[in-house]
Parts: sequence; C-alpha cells; structure tokens
Amino acid sequence: MGHIKLTNVKKSFGAVDVIHDINLEIEDGEFVVFVGPSGCGKSTLLRMIAGLDRPSSGDLAIDGKVVNTVPAADRGLAMVFQSYALYPHMSVRQNLAFGLENTRMPKDEIAARIAEAARMLEIDSYLDRRPGQLSGGQRQRVAIGRAIVRRPVAFLLDEPLSNLDAELRGSTRAELAALHARLAATMIYVTHDQVEAMTLADRIVVLRAGRIEQVGTPLELYNRPANRFVAGFIGSPH
Ligand code: ADP
Ligand code: MG
Repeated sequence: MGHIKLTNVKKSFGAVDVIHDINLEIEDGEFVVFVGPSGCGKSTLLRMIAGLDRPSSGDLAIDGKVVNTVPAADRGLAMVFQSYALYPHMSVRQNLAFGLENTRMPKDEIAARIAEAARMLEIDSYLDRRPGQLSGGQRQRVAIGRAIVRRPVAFLLDEPLSNLDAELRGSTRAELAALHARLAATMIYVTHDQVEAMTLADRIVVLRAGRIEQVGTPLELYNRPANRFVAGFIGSPH
C-alpha cells in the first residue's frame, strides 16, 4: 500500500506547458522529496497526485490502479499544506474529526484515532482550543494530525514548514522524520529548501521548469550530480 506511479504525466494551463512528461515510481513507505526553484511545478505535481488537479495527459496509478478519474477523497491520500488550512471556528478536536464524521466510522473509533494522533504529536493539551489560540508550530501539528487520523496510504506535504521560524522548522523537521519511521507510510514532500531535502529524503527528485533533472538518494545527488543545475541546487562543490 502506498506505491505511486506516474507515466508520461503532462499538465498545461491553457497554452502554457507546466509539467512535461514526468515518469516516476515511488515505492511503498518511501520518503520522496520534490525539490526545485519556485514555479518549477512542484505543487502542480503534488496536486495531480492528490487529485486536486487532473493531468492533461498520462497516467497516475496508486497501488497498481490508474486513478486519473478517481476523486481526491477516494484516493486514500492525505495532503498537508503550508497554510495549515484549519477551520478557525472549530476546536482542534473538531478539526481532527472533520472528514471522518462524513464516513460510517463509529464515534468511538474516531475518538480513538484522535487520541492516538494527539499523543503522537503531543497536542493532547490543546484539543479543545481553536486554531486562533495556537502558535504556528502548534497549528502545523494539528494539520499533520488531521492527515494521520485518516490513516492514508501516502502523505502529501507541500512546504509544510515554510511558515515556521528557523528554530521550529528544525525541530519539526526532526519530528517528521521520526513520524515517518513510526508510520512507515509513503511520504511525498515538496520543498525549495535543500537542507530539508537532504536530511529528510530517501530519494530526492530535482525538478526544473516542469522536468525531472535527476532522481537519486541525497548521497548520489551530492556525489554525482547529473549537471550543473543539480550540483548548484544540492550544494556540492562539483
Ligand atoms: P512550485 O510549487 O514549484 O512553486 P507551481 O506548481 O505552483 O510551482 O507552478 C508551476 C507553474 O504553473 C507556475 O508557472 C505557475 O504560475 C503555473 N500555474 C500553477 N497553477 C496554475 C493555474 N491554476 N493556472 C495557471 N497557471 C498555473
Ligand atoms: Mg508550490
């Protein structure tokens, strides 16, 4: 569960080609980071995997099944955004429950999942507060918690730390790595931050203007960058 495959995926907005013919296979449980400069198509790629955008052509498959026409809610994925996207008028607990309540899930199962996620993320003590009463770091934990309670086959994270200050970004990054080890779920993580890519990724996908420049482990990219762009971006001396 959590195997994701992109075959000849393209995306245009009007006459503008934003994603050019992407082929990529992500293994179950892998932590894959999409890295590249602003505007290179990272979010567009993630949104297509999530089902928030449709490829103009090509196929997207999850666990061997083509999902091009499967609605976002039925893909078994959970997305975490930079902007948290929490409901301001709801408590943390209600934010975590939202989405599960529309399913047939029994109330005690919902409560158990919330309790588990809250323990894991250490947000137990503010379950009854509203997002406006929380710090940025606390809000981002809640946003991650909302993904965890859904038990997705893959987590899609779009620059989840970029609204946090440097110190908090470092500690939350370490917590994300620990969370990945614990959940053993596929994670696809978008960032323009090289340090995040190098420290979190099993494999890094370097994107430039809608194309993949190179895919490899952090060490491979560092030691054997395919070109100057990758070398410059990953920061090796080559
Ligand atoms: P990144 O996340 O890497 O910064 P995006 O995926 O957001 O890049 O955007 C890639 C390109 O596609 C940019 O040039 C952006 O302006 C364009 N783009 C993204 N979404 C739309 C849209 N809905 N309509 C038109 N152009 C878009
Ligand atoms: Mg983006």
